[in-house]
Amino acid sequence: MHWQEVGDRVFTRHFDFLDQQIGVVLGGDDVLVVDTRSTPAHAREIAADLLELTRNPISIVVDTHWHWDHAFGNNAFRPAPIWGHLRTAERLRSEGEARRAEVVEALPDLAVDLLAVVIDPPDHTFTDRAAVMVGDRTVALAFHGRAHTDADISVFVPDAAVLFAGDLIENGSPPSFGDGYPIAWPSAVEQLLPLATGAVVPGHGAVGDRAFVQSQLAAFRGLADLAREVQDGSLNIEAAIAGSPFGPRTPRDAFERALAELRGELG
Ligand SMILES: [Zn+2]
Repeated sequence: MHWQEVGDRVFTRHFDFLDQQIGVVLGGDDVLVVDTRSTPAHAREIAADLLELTRNPISIVVDTHWHWDHAFGNNAFRPAPIWGHLRTAERLRSEGEARRAEVVEALPDLAVDLLAVVIDPPDHTFTDRAAVMVGDRTVALAFHGRAHTDADISVFVPDAAVLFAGDLIENGSPPSFGDGYPIAWPSAVEQLLPLATGAVVPGHGAVGDRAFVQSQLAAFRGLADLAREVQDGSLNIEAAIAGSPFGPRTPRDAFERALAELRGELG
């Protein structure tokens, strides 16, 4: 059994590739999948493993955000509707091809599979919140402001108290800041706390809980405070990295993005 049941008929499957977590919610004959991995081959692995849980096909897809490692498998699950933030659809349309080219260059072993990706943005979009019926269950989607990207959403299953947090939080390695808004990010994580009453599934790494969200929130606040000290000249960026609450492996772009955000350069 590849799946971990984290709440009543709510599952997650860990893949070694990028430490990915893929969620599933079963309700009636519906099968909702949270994120679709990175290539058609990766997406087909999800579908094959799902046979351990159900014979029903995937009927609803949710993208937690627009990054290639979460949304490039989308097309494999059509004709299912694909849900996501409006900007997830826009970014996949406007930047998907450029991102594909970058990843092909960075990961040549994956190039053939990446070139087979049909970039397929969400067709069910929203900007604030949405409710999705999965059989007789409701799954709540919500945007909490800019954080890891400009379009991260949480996926909450109230009757099972399971929260899929996407890359708003990561377990086991520092967050990815390349498209991030480190100053706004703590506010988004704070909004996850009321939803963190049971299992909390990050986009990458092991399943956590409320205490995990609290510790991540403290770390994001600490990083934003360090960035403010860099901005006002009382700390240099190397010292900020060395003292980062996410550890010395915190990427430099965490602070570069934060400084750009503080200067009002991120739009
Ligand atoms: Zn991401």
